[in-house]
Amino acid sequence: MIHCLSIPTPFAVGRVNCYLIDDEPLTLVDTGPNSGKALDELDIALRDHGHRIDHLERIVITHQHLDHMGLAGILARRSNAEVVTLDLLAPVLEEFGAHAERDDELAESLMLRHGIPRDVVIALRSMSRAFRAWGGSAPVDRGLADGESLEFAGRTLQALHRPGHSPSDTVFWDAERSVLIGGDHLIGHISSNPLISRPLGGKSGEPGAGRPRALMTYMDSLRATRAMPIEIVLPGHGEPVTDHVKLIDERFALHERRAAKIAGLIAERPMSAYEIAQSLWGNVAVTQAYLTLSEVLGHVDLLVDRGEIREAEVGGVIRYEAA
Ligand SMILES: [Zn+2]
Repeated sequence: MIHCLSIPTPFAVGRVNCYLIDDEPLTLVDTGPNSGKALDELDIALRDHGHRIDHLERIVITHQHLDHMGLAGILARRSNAEVVTLDLLAPVLEEFGAHAERDDELAESLMLRHGIPRDVVIALRSMSRAFRAWGGSAPVDRGLADGESLEFAGRTLQALHRPGHSPSDTVFWDAERSVLIGGDHLIGHISSNPLISRPLGGKSGEPGAGRPRALMTYMDSLRATRAMPIEIVLPGHGEPVTDHVKLIDERFALHERRAAKIAGLIAERPMSAYEIAQSLWGNVAVTQAYLTLSEVLGHVDLLVDRGEIREAEVGGVIRYEAA
């Protein structure tokens, strides 16, 4: 049995779905954020299913975001459960603070380069530091290679790297039951944002190899998932997805529409990514500045790749113009 445990987060996304795999070893997939409230609710949810935190024998993490891994260290300490992740995620989880700091450095330089005002960048940087309290490090006992199988008494889950939403996105495929534990790779009610973070290797790109093209990486990952004979996706947020092909096709159509809209804006006059974001969404909240920048850059990458637009640097800020 796989039980969905819905755990509160302080983030706009709302609750996160953690999954309890009632098998041997007793396994929790994703943990919720590092907060007393999340820990309390997780404890209650486990008891509802006849278990306790110290019964956990294995903790599996789908990706590097706070709402999915924040409690991993505390739960592992309390239960002695082995922590299992994709091999590329292991160093991030083991030194969470240092990795978050380097991701923030990348975010800061990208924001300045793409026209976001310095005061917004500084505000976001200090907010990001405060947000980190909802994360935390955990020792990783086992790193899985892309495609490697994780065995249970009653099932086998294959770990598949599907970067894009984050560089470490991992889905876990039960081929026998046609069930995919999807993390935030595919969510029914919201389009997973391809947030730009440092590449970690493998399909997420070589570390240090320039700015990652997160949306293009994400679309490659979606194509791979689309081709799978999945009956049900158990997502990191919201309800299970029962028609992944239809949903993925809707996502592709959404990104095409958005790219076309951005191409239309740029055709009128050259614009920075920040100006494009403002044209599309108005003056967004400071917290959303990097999200919307990532969103715009993802689509700009598609257009540059197709030769429809090109980059031009003016005074240290990148503007996009029709090719
Ligand atoms: Zn996420």
